[in-house]
Amino acid sequence: MNILKQLYQINSYSGSEDEIRRFVLQQVADLPLQFIQDSFGNVFITKGVSESYPCVSAHFDEVHQPCMRNIQELDGIIFAINEKGERVGIGADDKNGIWLALELLKSLDVLKVALFVQEEKSTYEGYRHGSDDCDLTFFNNVKFVLQCDRKGAGDLVTYCTKKEIRLCDDDFVPKWILQKYGYAPVEGGVTDVVHLKGRGLHIPCCNISCGFYNAHQPEEYTNVAELLNCFEFVKMIVLSI
Ligand SMILES: [Zn+2]
Repeated sequence: MNILKQLYQINSYSGSEDEIRRFVLQQVADLPLQFIQDSFGNVFITKGVSESYPCVSAHFDEVHQPCMRNIQELDGIIFAINEKGERVGIGADDKNGIWLALELLKSLDVLKVALFVQEEKSTYEGYRHGSDDCDLTFFNNVKFVLQCDRKGAGDLVTYCTKKEIRLCDDDFVPKWILQKYGYAPVEGGVTDVVHLKGRGLHIPCCNISCGFYNAHQPEEYTNVAELLNCFEFVKMIVLSI
């Protein structure tokens, strides 16, 4: 989990995503892939050649302001404390999704990855998310988008209640895969794939639990086993659908 802990060490407060983007691009520098960075700072990666691609997505930014983070791992849980021993957030929302994208790029021959800036920014304050304005042509030859930006374990968000947007049918992921990895379709909140669907993206999308808890709070932590299970779940979807 070395790369995951390095991601947690980087502060990527919304609008300050340069360092984490640099780190991510360094991690994939030796892989046979192409990427583009758009004018907003979103990154779109293509590995392999195919008529139609599976795609995973995540967001670069986090809500936590920069501070000293001493990353700890205890009994399969990763969290951070500051110099006073107080708990501080690690931005597992959504660095767990970034870590998954990196690991999937290493293990799969054909994959697209979309990494967005400023997902955490509030539109009520007049901000735009990276996924509000990006060029959608990247998704023209994409089969589906699996975003890993959901708390906890076992949720496959197929419908966004707040925006009343259906992301995919509840039977998009076959039952045997859901059961094997302990996932079930649920209704959930807003993230980049919701913005993409709201803009008219017609392919199935979903948002998947990736093992983080207490998002946006100092007590944020990751359950490593649940994150690893998410990796296997997403990989099985990619290889099966
Ligand atoms: Zn998030």
